Amino acid sequence: MKRIFPLLLIFLFFPLFAQISPQTQIANKAFVPAEIKTFMRYYPDIAYTTTYDLELNDWKIDMTADLYFERTQKPKGKKSASFYWAGGRLLPKEELANKEIYWVLQYEYENKLRDPKTYTPEEIEKIKQFGSKESRQNTQGTPMFFFDWLYSAQSQKIIEDHIIKTTFLGKSTRIHERIYDHVKNVEKRILARKSSPEISAFLANLKSCDAYHWREIVQTSRKSFHSYGIAIDILPKRLNRKAIYWSWEKDKLGDKWMLVPLEKRWMPPAEVRKIFEEEGFIWGGYWVIFDNMHFEYHPELIKMSN
Ligand SMILES: [Zn+2]
Repeated sequence: MKRIFPLLLIFLFFPLFAQISPQTQIANKAFVPAEIKTFMRYYPDIAYTTTYDLELNDWKIDMTADLYFERTQKPKGKKSASFYWAGGRLLPKEELANKEIYWVLQYEYENKLRDPKTYTPEEIEKIKQFGSKESRQNTQGTPMFFFDWLYSAQSQKIIEDHIIKTTFLGKSTRIHERIYDHVKNVEKRILARKSSPEISAFLANLKSCDAYHWREIVQTSRKSFHSYGIAIDILPKRLNRKAIYWSWEKDKLGDKWMLVPLEKRWMPPAEVRKIFEEEGFIWGGYWVIFDNMHFEYHPELIKMSN
């Protein structure tokens, strides 16, 4: 009976269904696409309402969250915003026409080190272009609208109300209230392993752990995730002549900066990188424009790639 009943319904109403346009049928879908749901899962404190916008042919996602993050401060009201999925970009309505200038927010975070010796001449050329001043000023970039809303980063004045002064591995730092628990978990787990020779050497050689800094990415007009207080730079006291940041190598070596061998790059111990990743932070040492001091909170990227 259970199986027959829905069939009967469809049969009875079939003439009605037959007249519905394909667009309305999409709108009638009760299920939000899996990729949108995946993204929403990693920011679970946000309340989401998804509707299909027939005019713009896209999913509209209304979001509401506490104005302050409840684990660190008493919520003082709510904040809301509406974004369009835009193929994974979360754009406000007025930016939909410029969709192509933005990267998608979800990409595969590859946590494997690529040996520069294996770069083909074509790849080297591409990386060179990617790291050039012109390319960094003109090409696409991460759409920051969702993050601006999530972290209340509309201006320096607004975000600083959400920045917490704390310490990380004994160094003073300023981080966003939303990542406080994750940063403290990373710290706890690293300190629990301080009897390991590699971890103790890493801790002894630690110079600073700076996070929040209102600034734009080198040679671009975009805000870096340091401006949100969700990126941390772990700097050692001594680099022992190793490379740590692509742009500093570019200043020294010119176009050959991407070929610096892995063994000549400073790296936090693999165990430290793993702890950070398990708490939702990606590591900049895996990027072609390597930034080996840099960790950035993006749980949606880590979890997707696992
Ligand atoms: Zn950084």
